[in-house]
Amino acid sequence: MGLLSLGTPLPWAEARKHADHVREHGIVQFLNIWNRIKKRRKDHLLWGDEIEYIVVYFDDDKKRVKVSLRAHDALEKLQKIETDAILRGDVPESSWKPEYGRYMLEGTPGLPYGYTLDDVLGVENNMMRRRKLATSMLRPNEAVLTMTNFPRLGSCHFTEPDAVATPDRGASMSLFIPEEAINPHARFPTLTANIRLRRGSKVAINMPILKDTNTPSPWLEPAPACLASSLTKSLPDAIAAGCSNGTVKETVEVAKHLDKGALPPLPDLVPDALPDHIYMDAMCFGMGCCCLQVTFQACSVEEARRLYDQLAVVAPIMMAISAGAPIFRGYLADVDCRWNVIAGSVDDRTVEERGLKPLSESRFKISKSRYDSISCYLSPGPNYSGGCVLPEEGAPAVNDVAAGPSKGMEYYKEKYNDINPPYDKDIYQKLVAGGVDDLLAKHYAHLFIRDPLVIFQELLEQDDQLSSDHFENIQSTNWQTMRFKPPSPTTPNIGWRVEFRSMEIQLTDRENAAFAIFVVLLVRAILSFDLNLYIPLSKVDENMRRAHNRGAVLREKFWFRQNIIGDKNRRLADLGCRCNGVSNQTVGEAIYGSGYVDGVAAGDEDEDACVEMTIDEIINGKPSAHYLGLVPLVRRYLAIHQPAISQTTREKLDLYIDLVSRKASGDLKTGATWIREFVTSHPSYKKDSVVNEDITWDLCQAINGLAGKEVKGLNC
Ligand code: ADP
Ligand code: MG
Ligand code: MG
Repeated sequence: MGLLSLGTPLPWAEARKHADHVREHGIVQFLNIWNRIKKRRKDHLLWGDEIEYIVVYFDDDKKRVKVSLRAHDALEKLQKIETDAILRGDVPESSWKPEYGRYMLEGTPGLPYGYTLDDVLGVENNMMRRRKLATSMLRPNEAVLTMTNFPRLGSCHFTEPDAVATPDRGASMSLFIPEEAINPHARFPTLTANIRLRRGSKVAINMPILKDTNTPSPWLEPAPACLASSLTKSLPDAIAAGCSNGTVKETVEVAKHLDKGALPPLPDLVPDALPDHIYMDAMCFGMGCCCLQVTFQACSVEEARRLYDQLAVVAPIMMAISAGAPIFRGYLADVDCRWNVIAGSVDDRTVEERGLKPLSESRFKISKSRYDSISCYLSPGPNYSGGCVLPEEGAPAVNDVAAGPSKGMEYYKEKYNDINPPYDKDIYQKLVAGGVDDLLAKHYAHLFIRDPLVIFQELLEQDDQLSSDHFENIQSTNWQTMRFKPPSPTTPNIGWRVEFRSMEIQLTDRENAAFAIFVVLLVRAILSFDLNLYIPLSKVDENMRRAHNRGAVLREKFWFRQNIIGDKNRRLADLGCRCNGVSNQTVGEAIYGSGYVDGVAAGDEDEDACVEMTIDEIINGKPSAHYLGLVPLVRRYLAIHQPAISQTTREKLDLYIDLVSRKASGDLKTGATWIREFVTSHPSYKKDSVVNEDITWDLCQAINGLAGKEVKGLNC
């Protein structure tokens, strides 16, 4: 999960004193990178995926499954294989990083993939080999699962070895999550504690419960048995200290119940817990979830900015299609995705920043958590050169190349940046004075309203020419749907990158590969056809909200741009030029179908029309609205730009493209739906929203059995 620095982490009371120092030097570090590398061109379109895994332990005797805290040991072995390979001068096949949960692993390809279709076709194999390698490092009865959330994370006795929560102490002071479940690397407990301390209370996450036929209404979650048994009289104080609105009266009430040995339901016990909701109170509930991310290197900073904007619009759509998180703390939820849980789990905003009190000590009212959808489009600006999608193999990147013809810049309109997020005016001025343009300056001045959360004593003083650590400190703790990644000052061969971060992890490698490959091919189509996906960011945010809803992929409509080809006449002329001698008529027909006549496509009223469509329509097309759809565009990109690919390659690519197309149409189930159906058809499910330990055992066994298989209705 981003940058991991080593050293002595400062406690919050100390760290907060250095916030301005980190921000100030972080901006200087960015400006140094910017002024050195802003004109660099012709970087290759490299890319890589990140897969997060949950390691589980199956207790065959008791038929119980837990998350295994020994994943951390496996990580050390995996990292040794990687470093040994590098020391031998070999390229490691995979690279491994720690993640928030001590039971988690993160695996990426050893080196980023190149831009050829062969690279694309190698992804599923690489993912399968990663799974195999990770599995070979585990103990008997352990397995790696690619599931977004462990269904009973935070229920009683969910870890192996067993550990208990300590609400009166520790980094998270959670009622449910033991400290041992958090990765022991200093960064993670410090992040956890400092988020809580900065906020002024524990995080409070409430996800709506799914109301099944036997679920009481209102539903008040019974306090977990282990909470009553493991806690002493200190519980009321711990609750009052941790909650944002704990009161003396409530703690007295709690104490009475404790004397009698039974606890009241959570909403009566904990002021932050809402009726009809599953309550979660720790960072682990969000950062302990798994996702699938894809990072792209663009050929220039302008191309990276263009991709950042275009993919930001696609992020909620891909989140809904990839939905995989229908269960939290052992209960079926009325949402299918993890995102809001993570947003809540790292929400370090003070009461004033959240708008619950007038500003006095805090500087800004902030409407979003640090983990949320993007708040500013970046737009490529007037120097977008376009056209470097497939650079010559082996050609070095070059600096100071004059910008080519301007393409794409005219798509951006101010009306799309309609969120107006708060930004730090001083930082904005410094960036502008340092040569950064308005939109990029606003982007960073917005990210830099946040405080650095983890500061290592030893890294306070840095050489701002050589280090980007202060910059990364704030950049990498702004966890948005997209991340714009500048090159690092110490690795000059890495170019400008964007990271696509909204997708949930899939149960099988086939699905993970398909989603990663689809986004890669979509990037190629966006760049080759100069697609214009801009809609107002407020609509993207609305899409993000809808994408969470149960069954959103089939039940919701989403805002999307109807005319994604831009100004059709002119764009088609460009397309003709860029398709090496293919006539405009041929390209027009390829994109719009045989109805395309003489440079004019039908149904072209409002150039910027933003309409509501189903995900099936957005992905597969809506002919009645003259909207082609992202999958047909990807197919046409392949037909026009990759005419020479063999039949076998085409069939393999079709396999992945079809998978995404069928997930969008509902022909294949999302992981969330597959899991829900497994639970609700289990013999021990009582239609009361409870996912008990027997169901969890069978579910995790079943998911473990999916690895490497074709599963009808899910991935084939
Ligand atoms: P983070 O920790 O910020 O999520 P990492 O630097 O660990 O990101 O890398 C994430 C992904 O980016 C990996 O899949 C990796 O292969 C890929 N990647 C690394 N370098 C490049 C590059 N130059 N271009 C494109 N992708 C890259
Ligand atoms: Mg990660
Ligand atoms: Mg990442």
